[in-house]
Amino acid sequence: MAVRLDSGTGSRPPVRPAAVPWVAMYHSVGDCSDDPYRITVTPERLEQQLAWLRRRGLRGVALRELLDARARGRARGLVALTFDDGYADFLTHTLPVLHRWNCGATLFVLPGRLGDVNSWDPLGPRKELLTADGVRHAAAEGVEIGSHGLTHLNLTRVDDGVLKAEVAHSRALLEELTGAPVDGFCYPYGKVDRRVAAAVREAGYAYACAIDPGPLTGRHALPRVHVGQNDTAWRLHLKHRLHRLRRRPVKGV
Ligand SMILES: [Zn+2]
Repeated sequence: MAVRLDSGTGSRPPVRPAAVPWVAMYHSVGDCSDDPYRITVTPERLEQQLAWLRRRGLRGVALRELLDARARGRARGLVALTFDDGYADFLTHTLPVLHRWNCGATLFVLPGRLGDVNSWDPLGPRKELLTADGVRHAAAEGVEIGSHGLTHLNLTRVDDGVLKAEVAHSRALLEELTGAPVDGFCYPYGKVDRRVAAAVREAGYAYACAIDPGPLTGRHALPRVHVGQNDTAWRLHLKHRLHRLRRRPVKGV
């Protein structure tokens, strides 16, 4: 059964549900010799992966661009590239590769931790996060800036007040910082339930990213495909094929 995302049928003719968009999930790009959470790919691997997309006739874009293109029926050949947490290596290691392959991307940042480190990952090496200037720099280069909450909490475990601050206040801070609308949210750890998704909708986000949201799948709980250092061309090919087979079709995204 297709997941319905539009409100009411109205008088429009039925639209055949489309496959869920293919959204790649990255985090950090750099040295991955000490990487217990498997969140890092080397710049060389990212380069190979974007080359693979090109060979398949695909191009990586910001998620907002992909959703807009789908709404106009012009998303053929587009996949979304997303980068979580807002690591400082985005500017030094990711952006040059994206530019070389003419790709866009969405960067989900934590306005409550700008210039800080990823202390929510206790086992991994400390990685620097972008400063406010770094986020502005990425935005000026055409990168879509989205919110990953304020401080990287599992939102399914916080009370309503904290939830509202993490979701709505982070959006307001990022809009002030970039001077542009912020449409996208990304659930920390991919954790989402109905209450959290409702808070994200109420805060005015146009879409939100999860990882594997199951029955919540929709515009405010988009599944994503983890892409890591081990994803060579062959594995990426499989992930791309399996995504189309496994994911239920949805309307409205
Ligand atoms: Zn994260």
